[in-house]
Amino acid sequence: MSTINCRRFPTISAANGSTPARLNGSSETPFALKMFRSFASGLRRPLTSIVAQFNASPSRASNRLSYSPSPPPRRTEDLSPPVNLALVDSEELIREILIRVGEDPNREGLRQTPARIVRSWEEIYGGYEQHAEEILVTQFCAGKYDEMVLLRDVEFYSTCEHHMLPFYGKAHIAYLPNNKIVGLSKLARLLEMHARRLQVQERLTQDVATDLQRILRPKGVAVMVEGKHQCMCCRGVHKKEGMMVTSCLLGAFKENLATRSEFLALAKN
Ligand SMILES: [Zn+2]
Repeated sequence: MSTINCRRFPTISAANGSTPARLNGSSETPFALKMFRSFASGLRRPLTSIVAQFNASPSRASNRLSYSPSPPPRRTEDLSPPVNLALVDSEELIREILIRVGEDPNREGLRQTPARIVRSWEEIYGGYEQHAEEILVTQFCAGKYDEMVLLRDVEFYSTCEHHMLPFYGKAHIAYLPNNKIVGLSKLARLLEMHARRLQVQERLTQDVATDLQRILRPKGVAVMVEGKHQCMCCRGVHKKEGMMVTSCLLGAFKENLATRSEFLALAKN
């Protein structure tokens, strides 16, 4: 039984009974709902039928024999009115996904899987609850130091927003101080915050750079990210060796060739 995710990812157990936590007046948009809508939109079975099934008899959702993987497409006029999926328990949504990929969610190895997945969301998507201003709040006087500060080879793990599959790699984050500096771990935490959201690598790179520029106001910022994307390895073109490299240069790094070259040379070493 999981109780850890009652705030963001309502579960039956979190609500002390069969009533999902969402029913208790929260106005938050459940993250599980967004994820499931995205997943369900590509499937052929009408979403409303799942909810009807849950409401009618929760045990039916876990009975594989009751599920037809390829129902005939329904005509538009047959569709039921939209159902509030916020009322559906997060773990039930995962169980439904397991059924759709061809599994029996009641077999021993899978029984705890929905709870594990929902728990893991707290970590994997924890970046939505963090703010760059809080991470970079502590700044120190740089004194006379005005050379480049570079944090190199910082590993990250993120999730591609197109396929919800992992992409991971390392980032190099540099800035040219303008009287202020921050602890190096804060640069890593800024990267972590943006990585722990659904992302594309281009935006991850830009978000880290623009937050650092906006909050610390240095003379310039450079961020380079090298990532491997599972959506390119295990599906699609099946190329596991490809590495994606993205960069974002701001201020002095964009305007000054020597500064840019120094960053690129240090990042490659
Ligand atoms: Zn992808």
